[in-house]
Amino acid sequence: MPAKLPNDVPLTSTFPDAVPDAASFPLATATEDRGVQDCAAASQVPQFDNCLAQVRLGIASGLYVALRSKHAPTAAHSLRVALFCSSWSYQLKLHDNQRDVLEVAALLHDLGKIGVPDHLLSKPGPLTADEADMVRKYRQYGINILSACCCNSEITESVRLAANRYDGGTTDNPGPFGTDLPLAARMIAIVDAYDSMIHEQVYRRPMSQERAVAELFSHAGSQFDPHLVEEFSRLQLLGQIESYQNVVRRWLHDLNPTESQHYWGAGPVPQLQSIANESESLFHDKMLDNTLHGVIYVDTGHKIIRWNAAAERITGIQGTTVANTLWDIDSFRFWGEDRKRITRDLCPVQRAIESKCQTLQRVVVRRVDRDINLDLHAFPVVDERGMCQGAAVLLRDATSETSLEQTVHDLHIQAARDPLTKAANRAEFDRVLANQVKRFQESATASSLIICDIDHFKSVNDTYGHPAGDSVLIGFSDLLHSICRPEDLVARYGGEEFAVVCPDCDIAAATLRAERIRAEIAAVHFTELGSRRITVSLGVTQVQNGDSPETVVRRADRALYQAKEFGRNRVIQLGSADDEPSPEGTPELGSWLSWISGMPSGNAVLERRLLAQVPIDLAVEKLRGFVADHSADIVSVSENHLVLSVDSRHVPLQRRNSDRATTMILEIQLESVTPDETGSTAGLQTRMHVSIRSKRSRDRRAEITIERAQQLLRSLKAYLMAHEEATS
Ligand code: GH3
Ligand code: MG
Ligand code: MG
Repeated sequence: MPAKLPNDVPLTSTFPDAVPDAASFPLATATEDRGVQDCAAASQVPQFDNCLAQVRLGIASGLYVALRSKHAPTAAHSLRVALFCSSWSYQLKLHDNQRDVLEVAALLHDLGKIGVPDHLLSKPGPLTADEADMVRKYRQYGINILSACCCNSEITESVRLAANRYDGGTTDNPGPFGTDLPLAARMIAIVDAYDSMIHEQVYRRPMSQERAVAELFSHAGSQFDPHLVEEFSRLQLLGQIESYQNVVRRWLHDLNPTESQHYWGAGPVPQLQSIANESESLFHDKMLDNTLHGVIYVDTGHKIIRWNAAAERITGIQGTTVANTLWDIDSFRFWGEDRKRITRDLCPVQRAIESKCQTLQRVVVRRVDRDINLDLHAFPVVDERGMCQGAAVLLRDATSETSLEQTVHDLHIQAARDPLTKAANRAEFDRVLANQVKRFQESATASSLIICDIDHFKSVNDTYGHPAGDSVLIGFSDLLHSICRPEDLVARYGGEEFAVVCPDCDIAAATLRAERIRAEIAAVHFTELGSRRITVSLGVTQVQNGDSPETVVRRADRALYQAKEFGRNRVIQLGSADDEPSPEGTPELGSWLSWISGMPSGNAVLERRLLAQVPIDLAVEKLRGFVADHSADIVSVSENHLVLSVDSRHVPLQRRNSDRATTMILEIQLESVTPDETGSTAGLQTRMHVSIRSKRSRDRRAEITIERAQQLLRSLKAYLMAHEEATS
């Protein structure tokens, strides 16, 4: 309810010098011409001032009363400044909120004088330096008091900055200057000075209004806002300041002390922890505002409680539009890397909250203007009791990485492709085949190789020209790609030869595929060749025990050679199709001991007796394949006795580049199994006594030598499809 206007208070005087304060405030020259205030009213002045302060300050009017108790002239001055500012604000047509701040700040701008010793406030002469220092601190005292009970930082700041010079020159207060100073602070500075000048101070006589105005002008631009000085002076000199009576009437009638409370409150009792948390959260807030990564907080109810500036920049979605709304991955247009929508049950944020599992995944935010690749890291926020409080989401712009990945991918394609046929090149073929051989050794995964060679291609070139030959190569490459599976590698092995590496494919399946290739190419009529057709020959093999990439290629090549030999336009397969890697193991103890003790068999690393399920002539034939594919040198050959020298440079088990090639010597003694021994199968089997050693009589790298010997033995067994017989 508005306070009642006391009837006995004279309201005839003009503002500002008519603020009734006679009891404590000896009126001086500026007011003399208007006459001394009514003495009867003077005794009630404090109570009247209190009414004004109360309607303006509400429960904080106690601050004003305290100031009056400390130093009444200061309280009276504050009220005048507040009323003048209020009047001026009407001329400036300030918004109600701005005027509220201005009036309260003006009323309390000298509040800190409560902290200045009495004798200094009433000292008539000049102050010493120390005393001046003490007095200067009063502004900070006021800020401290206001900070403790004023909920409106604008008021506190206006009080603090009212002491600042307009030009930013020497001031006790760091902070803005010029028009960056709050308007209220700039207005209070002018009215404060003006009111002080025109009123008696203990240390000086009051000035005339004109003199005071001249004084304001002489400091306009340095101490005061020049524009406001001009404005103020014009109003003052032209008598356009609203009458004191009107301002007081408005305060007393319009202001409601209960409504004036809202600037004031005790606030939470500061705890040590909360002060620490406060400063930590200040750092936290600053970091979130300035980090390059998008940060989003979502509570357990899926409500968005934070969406920082970087999240706005990355997603193009303003934080204010999504704050307090529910997280919805679909409506925010976060899609999978495959440009497919992410279903809600797979939403990483939902999973973080519900399953407490964190995820890091590449997503695409489909903005209106463009798609942006992001790394989205969602993790649950779990408190010390183990309760999930929501999820935090980090968004990292991965555009540059994606384009880098794309560039690397493009470069890889370039480096791995044959420019003419777009099939993989030889280097890529070597890499993939080596991987398949390794895979077989590690996990016995079947893998096959097909090598195709166009028949009589030289004559194609000779008859139709090289460009026509080129387009046949391109056509053949296209046909290979159309027949082979996506996981197969179609490579141009060289010239008019192509190779297909078929992972997870045994020799039977690879042979079927090769047969299809053969049949389909044979049916194509090439327009470049005047509708002529071509044929191809194909060799097929499967990676087998003891193989290196070289032995696989040589075997397939050997098969191709046989296809040519047998009349072209056909598929030949070679290889044991033995897809079970033979068990690894150390050489038998006896053999090992024979090696280290120099027994009669010399420095053999391995000695085994093998039984092949083929007659001796076929076994010899298979041995030829072994010899060819290992590029073995025949050291000596006599009846049923063969000594081979194998350079193990290409054997895949070489672990380090520094491993020197070891030449291994294989001695193989073949014998046909006699009828007495095995009954019905007699004569169909071949027994072989195999001894393998290093060519160097004392190879210090025994372990590697043993491994190489085992490798060769495995290969030999595979070529001959032989199994080991126990040595007697
Ligand atoms: P065979 O049936 O025994 O394989 O006979 P061929 O004529 O196909 O084999 P040969 O190795 O004698 O000739 C291969 C020809 O392939 C010779 C060469 O000019 C040709 N050639 C190799 N690379 C290219 C190429 O990139 N473009 C064209 N047009 N011809 C090529
Ligand atoms: Mg050819
Ligand atoms: Mg060829």
